[in-house]
Amino acid sequence: MRFPLSLSADLARYLLKKRLQGEEKFPMVLMLEPTHQCNLACEGCGRIQEYRDTLGLSLSLEECLDSVSECGAPVVTVTGGEPLIYPSVFELLQELVHRKKHIYLCTNAVLLEKSLPRLPRSNRITISVHLDGLAPMHDRILGRKGLYDTAIKAIKEAKAQGFRVCTNTTIYKETDIREIESLFTYLGQIGIDGLLVSPAYSFEGVKPEMFLSREEIREKFTRLTGNGKKFRFFSTPLYLSFLRGERQYECSPWANPTRNPLGWRAPCYQILDTHYPTFREMMERTPWEKYGVGRDPRCAQCMMHSGFEPSVVRQAGQHAKDMWKLLRWNLT
Ligand code: SF4
Repeated sequence: MRFPLSLSADLARYLLKKRLQGEEKFPMVLMLEPTHQCNLACEGCGRIQEYRDTLGLSLSLEECLDSVSECGAPVVTVTGGEPLIYPSVFELLQELVHRKKHIYLCTNAVLLEKSLPRLPRSNRITISVHLDGLAPMHDRILGRKGLYDTAIKAIKEAKAQGFRVCTNTTIYKETDIREIESLFTYLGQIGIDGLLVSPAYSFEGVKPEMFLSREEIREKFTRLTGNGKKFRFFSTPLYLSFLRGERQYECSPWANPTRNPLGWRAPCYQILDTHYPTFREMMERTPWEKYGVGRDPRCAQCMMHSGFEPSVVRQAGQHAKDMWKLLRWNLT
C-alpha cells in the first residue's frame, strides 16, 4: 500500500465525521511552522522574505501542542524554516505520535542524518526531504555545494534504519523535466517511499521570473506525469491530472491551515494578508469568498498542492469513480 492503513482509515473516518456533522470548511492537514529560522537561504523560499523581521521568533512546545489540539486535523506537517533546528522538535514529534497524529517532517536534510537517532520510531512519521533536481540544480537553488549528496546520504541512512521517507520537489520555470525524470528514477532505485511534486508559487519578494504560468505548469506536468513512466507519486493521480489541465478544481485554502510564531496565517499557505490569534478566529473571520482563481489576482497562477489536493479528496467523496481511482492507486 502507498500509505499506511492507519492513515487512510483515520482520514476516511475524519471525513465521514465532518460530513455527518454538516461541516463544509474544515482542516485536513495542519502546517505547523514552529520557527522560520533556517540553516539555508533557498532561492525560491517565500518564508525567509515574508518573515525576515521575525525570523528570531519561535513557538514554544506548549504553543505547538495547543495549536494541534485547537485545529484537530488528523495530519500534521512540521515545517518551517528548518524544523530540525527547532530546539524542541524531538519532544514535539514524540508528543504528536502519542496523540495519534500522522506526521510529515519536512526537512532540507542538512541535519537529518545526525538527527535520526533522536526521531521517534513510528509508522506515523514520514520524513519529507526537499529535493529540487540533480546535484548542480539542487545545490544552486539551495545555495550551497554538496547539499544534494548530503540529502541522498541521509535518505539512504533513514531508509536503512527503517524510516518512511518521501521527497518533495518544486518545479520552477527553469526546471528541466528530463532531469526530474532522472532524479525520480534514481530515487525509486534507492527505495524512496513516495514522491511529492508541485509547481512553485510566486511568493512576494522572490524573483518572479522563476515561476510558471498555468499554461507552463500544464505543459511541464504533462511531460512529467503523462509520459507513461510509473513513478511512485504521493501526489494523487487526480491532482496530477489537474496539473495537466485535464480537470478543474476550486481551491480549499482553509483545509491546510498554517500556524507560525505570528499566529494563524490567513488566507492560506501561499498568500499572507494577516494572522489571527486563534484557529477559530481564522476560520470565522477570513472572507473566504474573496480568494481563489478569478477572485484574487494573487491566485491566478496558483496550482499548489496545499490549496488543491484537499479539494481532490473532498470531491472524490462525492464521485464513486474518483473514489475508486484513489482507492486503487493507494493499494498499488
Ligand atoms: S488559489 Fe489563492 S487562495 Fe487558493 S490556495 Fe492558491 S493562493 Fe491560496
